[in-house]
Amino acid sequence: MRKQIIAGNWKMHTNIAEATILVEGIKEALAKTEVDREVVVCPPFTGLSTVADLIDETSIGLGAQNMYFEPSGAYTGEVSPLMLTDVGCHYVILGHSERRQYFGETDALINQKIKAAFTYDLVPILCVGESLAQREANETQAFIDSQLTAGLADLTAEQVSQMVIAYEPIWAIGTGKTATAEQAGEVCTAIRAKVASLFDAATAEAIRIQYGGSVKGSNAQEILSQPDIDGALVGGAALKAEDFMAIITA
Ligand code: PEP
Repeated sequence: MRKQIIAGNWKMHTNIAEATILVEGIKEALAKTEVDREVVVCPPFTGLSTVADLIDETSIGLGAQNMYFEPSGAYTGEVSPLMLTDVGCHYVILGHSERRQYFGETDALINQKIKAAFTYDLVPILCVGESLAQREANETQAFIDSQLTAGLADLTAEQVSQMVIAYEPIWAIGTGKTATAEQAGEVCTAIRAKVASLFDAATAEAIRIQYGGSVKGSNAQEILSQPDIDGALVGGAALKAEDFMAIITA
């Protein structure tokens, strides 16, 4: 049985004071609620240490939004997997469409990062998803299959069974346009089938697949009740404790 995972991607938002207020709000609300879902927060790098201290001894997990694949070295401006585990991260989001679009990240680079994440005991959350033009041209599945084939290259079935894939249609991120629960569910089912064909049925059964793209309290329940959707990656609605909690408890 897969445990659903709700992860908040704070993107380039929150200074230390704001991150503190946000995480304290989530902590306080979670302390009063029975939740059967895993909760993860992914602040910007500058907030990781503060948030790690604040969530110590809670069930909230910590994730980073990106990393480089080398453990250390002359890579000005980059952050390594070892630095992330040192600060208390368990997860790392890799291949977010904003990284692909604005920073030129390729499937090959993302694959190197995923392999490095496993080497240094981080669980990758691999983001995949099509553009509006690709959806309209009926290329959604072929495109996502190519992202999965390249992104998961050279990994073992055991590694893949532990990771998280986030299906995030680019046209639904930060736009207020959500895929319908059926559209999201259909693609997540196809992602699971692709994992089965690349690895095996047991790996496909174990891997957790999130949906991301304008998830909010009002649409979360329908999305999260799709059989192949095991959680949500949440951007905008993760920036207020109340909004994030509405998804966690949906
Ligand atoms: C995201 O950035 O991963 C995301 C899903 O953003 P939003 O929820 O704001 O669409």
